[in-house]
Formats: sequence, C-alpha cells, structure tokens
Amino acid sequence: MTNLKNKIALVTGGSRGIGAAIVKRLSAEGAKVAFTYASSGAASENLVKEIENNGGQAIAIKADSGSYEEVTGAVEKAAAHFGKIDILVNNAGVADGKAFEEYTQEDFNRMFDVNVKGVFFATQAAIKHIPDGGRIITIGSCLAEIVTVPNLTLYSMSKSALVSFNKGLARDLGDRRITANLVNPGPTETDMNPATGPSADAARERMAIKEYGTAEGIASLVAWVAGEESKYMTGTSLTMDSGTNI
Ligand code: NDP
Repeated sequence: MTNLKNKIALVTGGSRGIGAAIVKRLSAEGAKVAFTYASSGAASENLVKEIENNGGQAIAIKADSGSYEEVTGAVEKAAAHFGKIDILVNNAGVADGKAFEEYTQEDFNRMFDVNVKGVFFATQAAIKHIPDGGRIITIGSCLAEIVTVPNLTLYSMSKSALVSFNKGLARDLGDRRITANLVNPGPTETDMNPATGPSADAARERMAIKEYGTAEGIASLVAWVAGEESKYMTGTSLTMDSGTNI
C-alpha cells in the first residue's frame, strides 16, 4: 500500500484504540507519522518500534490535548521533525457518561478542553504547516447526530460542536484545496467502549448489524479520506456505526 507515500501525518491520541489503528494504517500506506499521547508512554514507544520494524517512520509526542500550550507545541514539534504536515487527524477524545444533574463545571471544562478546544487549536496551529491540497480529518461520533442512550449529554454536545467546526473549516480552507471531513464512529471496540462493557448490549440493540465496529475499520475509512481519491469531498460527515443511527 503506497497511497500516502511522501506524506506526513499527525494523529492526536495515537497511543491506543482508534488512534493507534490510524497511526498503523497511515504508516502502512507509506506516510511518516507523528502522534501524541497523554499518559501511555510505554504503549507509544512500542508503537514507534513496531512501525520502525515494519520499515516506517514515526515519533511519539507527549501532549495533553486539553492544554493549549501542549497541543499547539506538539504540532510545532511534529512539523519541525518532518518538515510539514499533510494530514492532520484530530482523534484524541475523552468520554464521561453520567446523569445530567451530576455533571460539574470541571467535567464540562475538561470535556470541552479536550474534545473541542484541543481540536480547534491543534488545527489552527497545523494549517501553517499544511500545504495546499492537505487533509484535516476529525474523529467525531455518531452521537453528534442522534443521541441514542441516556447519560451522554455532555459528550454528545462536545461531538456535535465538531459538525459546524468541520463545515466552517471546509469553507475557510477551500481556496487552498485543503479538505476538512468528520469521521463519526459508532460503538467501536476500544478501552473507551469495550464490546463486553455494561452498556454494550444496549448499544448492540440499536444497531442494524448487531456488532461493534473495529478500530481498524475506522482507520481504513480515515486512510481513504487522507488519500487523493477523496479530494472533492469536504465539509461532510462519514458515519460508520453498524447502522446505529438509521
Ligand atoms: P481510547 O480511550 O481507547 O483511546 C484514547 C486515545 O486518545 C489514547 O491514545 C489516549 O492517550 C488519547 N487521549 C485521551 N485523552 C487525551 C488528551 N487529553 N491528550 C492527548 N491524548 C489523549 O478511545 P477511542 O480509541 O475509543 O476513541 C478515539 C476517538 O474516537 C475519540 O475522539 C472518541 O471520542 C471517538 N469515538 C470512539 C467511539 C468508540 O466507541 N470507541 C465511538 C465514537 C467516537 P493515552 O493512551 O496516553 O491515554
């Protein structure tokens, strides 16, 4: 696979789950990949080694997406290391489900700092380094469109903010042929949402195909959006959710 030969990608939250699958897939397609992580240093080192063993190039950067300084600093480090950023994948995200009346201001700030502010400012920092024709791919959620279960008001709200972020960005960057697209996963087996977790049966009940998605499946969609063939698609949302939202 050489779809992304000579391309540089930056993936936020690449140490585990969907982000790690995206890092591996973009690397397998020929891209050199920088990725961030918050706390999983050992997993990140192992991922870098795995990519190098397969003949690729990757660097891991410790940076909390909830911190303006850290997330914009990570963008600068990635660009300084590889010289540019062709593809930005805003993947880092946190989820915290609780009854609406239990949310605190601290919960609100943390959710929006990571899921919204981190995405906004990582992208703002990155566009200086993204050549014309580049790609911005943001991982949203099927919950941005339809909130299928209780106790996810704050998370869903943070993800729906990304819908208009993505559309605005597509308008703002269209003159440079930089595309902006959202990839909205449904329930996908990761640490965040284990297929054997307490809410998994309820999630499966809503699906047309009653199976959790895989991180690799989401990564394959991201790889296509990152490639040349998607160049006239911008400002849109692509949902891969086993039919949860139909
Ligand atoms: P995981 O919790 O399994 O992994 C999260 C990844 O993001 C880790 O690499 C983690 O790093 C990183 N991360 C978390 N917080 C931060 C932070 N503050 N700064 C930098 N990195 C951070 O989640 P998933 O892989 O499941 O989710 C990835 C994305 O997909 C998220 O945006 C999520 O909202 C979205 N999504 C997931 C769904 C699912 O069912 N799994 C469904 C819909 C959307 P570290 O290892 O260092 O903690």
